[in-house]
Amino acid sequence: MQVTVLGSGVCASGLPRIPDRQPPGFWVTWDGGHLLFDASEGIRFRLQRIGVPYASVQHIAITHSHADHYALPPLLLAMFCTPLWGGVKPELLDLYAPDAIVDSWPTLFKIHVPEAPAPNDHCTEDGFLWPKLLWHRMSGTKTVGIGNAKLDAADVFHGFGRCPALAFRLETPEGAVVYSGDTGDCDGIRNITKHADLFISEASGMVGHREAAKRYGHLTPYDAGDIARASGVKKLLLTHYPGLDSNKRMVEDCRKSGFKGKIIIAKDFQRIQI
Ligand SMILES: [Zn+2]
Ligand SMILES: [Zn+2]
Repeated sequence: MQVTVLGSGVCASGLPRIPDRQPPGFWVTWDGGHLLFDASEGIRFRLQRIGVPYASVQHIAITHSHADHYALPPLLLAMFCTPLWGGVKPELLDLYAPDAIVDSWPTLFKIHVPEAPAPNDHCTEDGFLWPKLLWHRMSGTKTVGIGNAKLDAADVFHGFGRCPALAFRLETPEGAVVYSGDTGDCDGIRNITKHADLFISEASGMVGHREAAKRYGHLTPYDAGDIARASGVKKLLLTHYPGLDSNKRMVEDCRKSGFKGKIIIAKDFQRIQI
């Protein structure tokens, strides 16, 4: 099982503190399947860079609707256009998302592609060849199968509690990976991380600003470490990094929680084996 970091950054980029970090995305492959965590702005270019034709992606898990995690219309448009010029024709997209995203998708699609006659269907009329979208409503405690693996979701606290958000857990025969999305410290993230081999945790809260992070719904490195320690996580990948603290300071803060496992500060295009 391999995780490739497609984006370890946030919703801003090119600043001195975050010169080469792009918004969140994690490409997970194992013997029997694949899954993309979050479809952020420009994700297709990063998939191309690692040699994955974006139109061949079938499974995408979206944590929440903030655009640094969910920019599906441009990806879908690219998938639609690819076969027109000789590329792979996508047939089916399995999308795992909070119920609120599923409910609002027809409206969002209609804004971007008002001429498309049937926003959710594989449609061949008038030359439209959208991939068929199979939406999976994942709010609440939900589990779905993806080939020989299973995907669990948990509701987590984010955006002052007003942004429906999920954390995901992918269990394969080769190991279990949890991705926090954006979250504060809450029961959802504590329950879904139990004994994970790898916990991809956001750490966008500034060191020492635990209350501020908690109020909005983010984690500091300490919080991520504390959750990993309590859950018996083996390896912790800190991401969604705004560059407010040095790597060294983040690791020191994380260690104060008592977490003894491996800590990795994520970098774009890094690969982690499980
Ligand atoms: Zn967010
Ligand atoms: Zn975010």
